[in-house]
Amino acid sequence: MDFSFTQEQEMLRNTTRGFVDKEIMPFIEEWDRTGKSDPAIYGKLADLGLMGVCIPEAYGGSGMDYNSLAIVCEELERGDTAFRTAVSVHTGLNSLTILQWGTEEQKQRYLIPQAKGEKVGAFGLTEPSAGSDVAAMKSTAVMQGDHYLLNGQKTWISLCDVADHFIVFAYTGNQTEKHSAISAFIVERTWPGFSSKAIKGKHGIRAGNTGELFFEDVKVPKENLLGKEGEGFKIAMSALDNGRFTVAAGAVGQIMACLEASVSYCRQRQTFGKEIGRHQLVQQMIANMEAGFQMSRLLVYRAGELKNQGKRNTRETSLAKWQACDFAYKAADDAFQIHGAYGYSDEYPVSRYLRNSKAPVIYEGTREIHTIMQAEYALGYKEDKTLSHTLPAWEQQNSASE
Ligand SMILES: Cc1cc2nc3c(=O)[nH]c(=O)nc-3n(C[C@H](O)[C@H](O)[C@H](O)COP(=O)(O)OP(=O)(O)OC[C@H]3O[C@@H](n4cnc5c(N)ncnc54)[C@H](O)[C@@H]3O)c2cc1C
Repeated sequence: MDFSFTQEQEMLRNTTRGFVDKEIMPFIEEWDRTGKSDPAIYGKLADLGLMGVCIPEAYGGSGMDYNSLAIVCEELERGDTAFRTAVSVHTGLNSLTILQWGTEEQKQRYLIPQAKGEKVGAFGLTEPSAGSDVAAMKSTAVMQGDHYLLNGQKTWISLCDVADHFIVFAYTGNQTEKHSAISAFIVERTWPGFSSKAIKGKHGIRAGNTGELFFEDVKVPKENLLGKEGEGFKIAMSALDNGRFTVAAGAVGQIMACLEASVSYCRQRQTFGKEIGRHQLVQQMIANMEAGFQMSRLLVYRAGELKNQGKRNTRETSLAKWQACDFAYKAADDAFQIHGAYGYSDEYPVSRYLRNSKAPVIYEGTREIHTIMQAEYALGYKEDKTLSHTLPAWEQQNSASE
C-alpha cells in the first residue's frame, strides 16, 4: 500500500489548481449568479489535457492513471461543482464507457476527439418518469433497415446544450422484459430530430448547463449501437462505476473548499474576545470536516487503485460516492454555519457550496440507493459478476499505447 502521490500526479494537481485559481475563481460568483459560464472553458481544459486525463495516449488522452482523474475532479470542484460535473459526464460517464464498450471504429470516431477535448460528450439515462428506477424509461429505438429510429425524452442531463455526442439509453425490446431489453447508443447533436433545452431556476450548480433532450424519429446508424442489443442496462451501471468515482472525488474537493473558507474565517472573526476557531463547538465542525475529508479521500483512492488494477469496483465506488457526498453536504452546511450571517450573503462562497453540494447526494445514485446497495452487499444479497467488457487496467492501457 503506497499512500503517496507520484511526481506526475503532484504536477497535475498544481496545474489543475493553477487553472482553477486563474480561470474559474475570479468569475465564478458572477457565473453562478447569471447561470452562465464561458464556453471557452472546455477548450482551455482540453489544452491542459484535462478532458481525457486517464484515456490512453493511443486514443488521444493523457494516458495517466485513474487516480489522476480523481485529482482533476478534486481540484475542479474546489473551484465549482459545475466544472467537475462537466468532467464527470464527459470523461467518467461517456469517454470511459466508449473505451470500455466501444468498437474500434467508435473509439476512432468518438473517443479520440473527446479525449482531445475537440468534442464534448454527455450521458442521457434519466427520464421524467425514470430516475432511480431506470427500467421505467419510455424511450424506444426501433430497428429499420440500416438504422434505429429513436424516440423519447431525457431530463436532468448535464451539458445538454453543450455536448456534441450523447450516450443515450432506450428500449429496443419489449418493455415488459425490463432491464434486459434496454440498449445504449451514441447519438450526435447535429442529427435531425434531436433538440435540447436547459432547465432554469436550479437550486445549485448554476454555472453548469443541465436540461432536457428530445428525440423525434432520430435516425441512429446501427454502427452506433454501443455493446450489443439488450446490454444497455449493464453499460449504464458500468458507466456509473466511473461517473460515481469522479463525483466522489469532486466531493473531496468540495470539503477541501469548505475547510479552506472556514479555517480562514475562524482565524479572522472574533467573538467574546477570541478567534471563533478557539471555541470548542466551532472546532467540532472543523474536526468533522477534516475527518470527512481524510476518510472520503481514502475511499476514493482505494476505488481508483482497483480501477488501475482492472478489478471490479462497483461496491467500493458506491461506498466512496455515498460517504464523500454526504460528508461534503455536511461540511458545506457547517461551513455556512461557521460564517454566521455572512454565510447568508454572496460575500463568501459558502452558500454556493451548500447549494452545489446537494445535487451530488441525488445524482448518480441517490443517498438512499447507495445505502441499499451497501446493505445488500453486506447481507450477501448482492454480488457482482464479471462483465463481458471490463475497463482496461492502467498498465495495460499504457502498454497498448506504446
Ligand atoms: C444537477 C443534476 C444533474 C444531473 N445530470 C444527469 C445526467 O447528466 N444524466 C442523467 O442521466 N441524469 C442526470 N441527473 C439525474 C439524476 O441521476 C437523477 O435525478 C437521480 O438518478 C434520481 O432520480 P429522480 O430524481 O428521478 O428521483 P427518484 O428516483 O424519483 O427518487 C425520489 C426519492 O425517492 C427515493 N427512492 C427512490 N427509490 C427508492 C428505493 N427503492 N428505496 C428507497 N428510496 C428510494 C430517492 O432516494 C429519492 O429520495 C442529474 C440530476 C441533477 C439534479
